[in-house]
Amino acid sequence: MSKDKIILFDDKKNCCACGACMNVCPKDAIRMEEDEYGFLYPQIDETKCVQCGACKKVCAYQNEQVKNAPIKCYAAVNKNKAELMKSASGGIFAAMATSVLKEGGVVFGAALDFEDGHAHPHHVAVRELSQLYRLQGSKYVQSAIENTYMEAKKELDSGKKVLFSGTPCQIAGLYGYLRKEYENLCTVDVICHGVPSARMFDDFLQNETKKRNAKSVKNYIFRDKKKGWGMNGRIQFEMKNGTEKIVYIPARLASYNTFFLDGFNYRENCYSCKYACSKRSGDVTLGDYWGIERENPELLKNKEFDVENGISCIIANSKKGMDKIQDIFDMSMYKTQFEKIANKNGQLKHSSKRPEKRENLMKLYSQKGYSSIDEYFHKKYRKQIIVHTIFNAFPIGVRLKIKKVLHK
Ligand SMILES: Cc1cc2nc3c(=O)[nH]c(=O)nc-3n(C[C@H](O)[C@H](O)[C@H](O)COP(=O)(O)OP(=O)(O)OC[C@H]3O[C@@H](n4cnc5c(N)ncnc54)[C@H](O)[C@@H]3O)c2cc1C
Repeated sequence: MSKDKIILFDDKKNCCACGACMNVCPKDAIRMEEDEYGFLYPQIDETKCVQCGACKKVCAYQNEQVKNAPIKCYAAVNKNKAELMKSASGGIFAAMATSVLKEGGVVFGAALDFEDGHAHPHHVAVRELSQLYRLQGSKYVQSAIENTYMEAKKELDSGKKVLFSGTPCQIAGLYGYLRKEYENLCTVDVICHGVPSARMFDDFLQNETKKRNAKSVKNYIFRDKKKGWGMNGRIQFEMKNGTEKIVYIPARLASYNTFFLDGFNYRENCYSCKYACSKRSGDVTLGDYWGIERENPELLKNKEFDVENGISCIIANSKKGMDKIQDIFDMSMYKTQFEKIANKNGQLKHSSKRPEKRENLMKLYSQKGYSSIDEYFHKKYRKQIIVHTIFNAFPIGVRLKIKKVLHK
């Protein structure tokens, strides 16, 4: 008698694309395929599937998961200024990764590679300090896990220390896949409010290339710190005459980044994310310590805590996470409270709200292409564009003063 056909998910709300099912399949019968918006979903090749059910067992999203309550919280910065400046917030990930690499371990995380001018955000393994830069900096787009869970398991089984980082659902996915405790594994989840698809991100870059009459995109940094700790993008173009051009785009002047900040372009399950809460999937949670000016103003008297260069929040969720953090010397850290961090990071308490217009915007994108939603942005966000263009023309010192007044 043949077994029932396997249904991986019955609703898009129940799949985060961690790819645990694809990594575990003994018949290599599962592939990730794009939907109409470019979001990845696992699809079974029925000709290969033997209905063993391994894929259903490892699905963390649909099975109960162990989550850890915060033990201690800190405000922290990496003392190494060069590392701090390459990082989105306080550079704590780089400090943790450096200590693991120096002990001969392997670090997994999200890299943004470019192939023929097209962006490819995906998880990779880094074994050398010289390659760590690939994982540094936030990439506000879904990073494809590919076969990194499998790779991490091999490293863990060989006894190597592994630091695996990603969004909370990707970390839960890793545990779902491993189904076993490893003493040599430490995990980092980032505070996350949702991820857009890799296709939409690439379409945004291609649209910018066309608008600026460039040949192709060579690199993109979501949060360049040249203009301070914030959300300022930096695109590196190759021009048609062979020269290079760097363009800085503050988030509120770019359609993709504004839609991201306002929650218009996330994956379906992000709007009901079960990891957007105080109980975390990783041993350590990292985020920006937004609001430190109000929550811990006394720390800003310390020269190392500079709001121009970025400050992290660390939440230690397990003994292993606590030990890892205590191990790091290149970091200044001071205790704070979970509530203080959560005040400006709502994702530690609830998932992002689904804007009413999300459906219309995504439909417009899938039917008429990225340029149509970019045009929509320039029409509907005119006031925002004017205000932010003026604001960004001021030197950083003046901008910080304006922000301080606005936040009072
Ligand atoms: C999609 C997304 C949304 C986020 N939203 C918030 C938020 O609302 N509030 C907040 O405080 N912080 C948020 N963060 C986290 C924040 O941007 C920093 O990543 C975090 O503070 C760590 O900073 P760092 O300076 O220590 O390290 P960095 O060097 O800046 O960050 C590197 C770390 O981020 C991971 N990473 C980068 N991009 C991705 C990705 N696409 N998918 C999975 N992992 C990734 C890397 O694997 C690595 O662990 C978000 C991060 C992402 C990726």
